[in-house]
Amino acid sequence: MVSEIEKIMSNIEQVRNIGVIAHVDHGKTTTSDALLAGAGIISERVAGEALALDYLNVEKERQMTVKAANASLYHEYNGKGYVINLIDTPGHIDFTGMVTRSLRVLDGAIVVVDAAEGVMTQTETVLRQALEERVRPVLYINKIDRLIKELRLTSSQLQDRLVEIIKDVNNLIDMYAEPEFKDKWKLNPAAGNVAFGSAKDQWGITVPIASKKGINFQQIIDAYSSDDKDKIAALTKKAPLHEALLDMVVKFVPNPKEAQKYRIPKIWKGDLNSDLGKAMLEADPNGPVVFYVNAIHVEKAGLVATGRVFSGTLEPGKELYVVSQDVTGRVLQVSLYMGPFRELTQRVTAGNIAAIMGIDNLRAGETLVESQYKSQGAPFEQLHYIAEPVVTIA
Ligand code: GDP
Repeated sequence: MVSEIEKIMSNIEQVRNIGVIAHVDHGKTTTSDALLAGAGIISERVAGEALALDYLNVEKERQMTVKAANASLYHEYNGKGYVINLIDTPGHIDFTGMVTRSLRVLDGAIVVVDAAEGVMTQTETVLRQALEERVRPVLYINKIDRLIKELRLTSSQLQDRLVEIIKDVNNLIDMYAEPEFKDKWKLNPAAGNVAFGSAKDQWGITVPIASKKGINFQQIIDAYSSDDKDKIAALTKKAPLHEALLDMVVKFVPNPKEAQKYRIPKIWKGDLNSDLGKAMLEADPNGPVVFYVNAIHVEKAGLVATGRVFSGTLEPGKELYVVSQDVTGRVLQVSLYMGPFRELTQRVTAGNIAAIMGIDNLRAGETLVESQYKSQGAPFEQLHYIAEPVVTIA
């Protein structure tokens, strides 16, 4: 399985780097869990208490947390396999730059909006931050059940409500996206970049999926207004949420090579004509290594730094220069993610998310470059000397 994943990861067109962003309580956690359950290490059938417990045991053995820094999902679209890296983004507004930091390693974001509440202040804040980092949004309107059970909307009122939310999000894209992305990134439900569903019940549809599978709003209204568990379960089986969301991601989020062409000039502070600059613009696996750390965890065996390989190929033994500290260190272990778990590997190529061990004193936000290129080593982020909380797993 690791070698299969490695093969897909080395074909950059089959990789996507995404996050889930939302106003608090709109369903970011439930949506991420549904993605992991559907397309991660645990299969669609692995649900319910007993199996969830198993999952936690495996996790304890491997000293991982449910809230991993990253979870790599596998998804097939039009007969082709894709690795989708789901990167954890902080769920709250903070002032330490953590939101920006995780956005920096993403190329796309699933914006979750509660159908009953609509676009809220934090939806606007995180979407604006994403657009400023040139992260492309797709929309997931969650909690459709609330529109039926609590607000008792009819089919046409329900559709009006969805149209209104899409319009609000498009207004934000219009306001905050740079001119060259505005029109391209505006949402168009008919094209399939808006999904509707319930993360709690793990179903979701886009317009193309609904027409392909013969699902309409009246069926959804019937299931929830009668609170018919079987009808809801049938919906989940027919239109699982992870399929709708990951189809959207594969189709609309650019692959790392496409994305780095326009993102590197925006997010990296170095010379674009240098070897490092050119290699990152091309996401060149044969170029010098550039690795940006977005999360740090301390495990029994030592410090694990998770981040994105923007160019080159990370391998054990590589000597890397830590830009903000003016020191070099040697990578001892390289791992990739399978679901939320790390597995050792011999290489991770440009465009992918990797974790490394062996270099001490790393902090989140650090930029590492292959040591021969240290003179070109500009950072992605200017690190300030503040104490950052480190997650310790006993
Ligand atoms: P977060 O703060 O954005 O991570 O939101 P959570 O995923 O923790 O969800 C907030 C609350 O909304 C929880 O009580 C969830 O059970 C609930 N929730 C999530 N998805 C749905 C849904 O589809 N329908 C309903 N009715 N509630 C949901």
